[in-house]
Amino acid sequence: MNRYEVLRGRESQARTYAANFEGVFESGAGIRLRDQSGREIIDCLACAGALPLGHNHPELVEVLTQFIKSGHVHQALDLTTPAKYEFVQELFGLLPEEFASRAKVQFCSPSGSDAVEAALKLARFATGRHNIIAFHGAYHGMTGNALAAMGNLGPKAGIGPGPGGIHFMPYPYRFRCPFGTDGSQTDELSINYLRRVLEDPESGIAKPAAVIVEAVQGEGGCIPASGDWLRALRALTQEHGIPLILDEVQSGFARTGQMFAFESAGIVPDVLVLSKALGGGFPLAVVVYDQSLDKWPRGMHAGTFRGNQIAMVAGQATMRILQRDGLAQHAQKMGELLMSGLRDLARRYPALGDVRGRGLMVGVEVAEPQQGGQPGPGNGALARAIKRCAMEAGLMVETGGRHGAVLRFLPPLILTPSDVGAILDRLDTAVFHALK
Ligand code: PMP
Repeated sequence: MNRYEVLRGRESQARTYAANFEGVFESGAGIRLRDQSGREIIDCLACAGALPLGHNHPELVEVLTQFIKSGHVHQALDLTTPAKYEFVQELFGLLPEEFASRAKVQFCSPSGSDAVEAALKLARFATGRHNIIAFHGAYHGMTGNALAAMGNLGPKAGIGPGPGGIHFMPYPYRFRCPFGTDGSQTDELSINYLRRVLEDPESGIAKPAAVIVEAVQGEGGCIPASGDWLRALRALTQEHGIPLILDEVQSGFARTGQMFAFESAGIVPDVLVLSKALGGGFPLAVVVYDQSLDKWPRGMHAGTFRGNQIAMVAGQATMRILQRDGLAQHAQKMGELLMSGLRDLARRYPALGDVRGRGLMVGVEVAEPQQGGQPGPGNGALARAIKRCAMEAGLMVETGGRHGAVLRFLPPLILTPSDVGAILDRLDTAVFHALK
């Protein structure tokens, strides 16, 4: 038994992504990883979107090396430090002025899940109400309330009942319209349904503490909500005095072609949940919210590692580079190129269905093509086979969504048109082998 077999033997069987892969990953540069045998793998997952600049970006390496050697503190609970000042300035500079000018930030334990916990807690304190509205297919994390807000993602949903008070509404998932109609009516039907629930005193959830939503569902299968739907949701929550929480843990920081996905709809949230790319690849999470909600007591959301200065330095440098290099616009262009290539592939392989996304948050349904406006059954087994064959062909992609039947592409934002070509070639090989 070699040492990595020993390691695999020691790791929990709950391990997910790499459970089926033998590879040992030794180094990475840009969008490429290299395994022990020297084989190159294009990373189309980027640590679930946490590496917008890819692996070992030279500027990040430089900034971090200097910081670590500088004598500044590396961990600081919630003490005031120069690195925190720079980080908060950079972050607030990225937020729309309308939101930033009224916003407060709370540092959380460094995971998206904990920031979601904070957001829900904040809304419950601020409103004195308990119920939360979330959406089918949502993914908000793996801890108590965040897990309870996960909308029917099968095996990820945990065991038995979690904390109560979370209620699910249909997300505007056009390909599998929750109302069974064709996609053209999905947005309107789901907003009307939510309106009825909010306006019916007997629904039991007429006055929730918050609505939490992803502007583009990530784990749920890279499903973008339309601008119209998001605007209608914003108007409805405003009309009813309900704080709107945007979970941009995955979609934030230039990935969708805007710095934040909600910007494409021209709305602002009351609460914004951020993690993943926020720390430039290092663990960091915050909740940013309208100051009118700042009603929770002192110490209400503490956490030992919320003052990770290394992540703040990496995050600040990442935000600066995202802006300087116009990576939001670049993500938009590369996303269009990728989707257009995927649609070409889908024309050749009928098992590939709907191709959709926003920027570089792209999903492909692995299913029979739509017939008469209705989607075929999702084919999770084939999606997993494609993922395995893709790894053999030198491409790391993830599956997710309903039935696990969506291939998800979340590459670093720095990829070039020729990288997109290489991704498509490798995927082509993978699909060919998976169907054999
Ligand atoms: N919210 C969203 C939208 C996510 O995609 C994720 C992670 N995939 C989380 C929350 C939870 O983040 P973490 O895994 O860091 O707890």
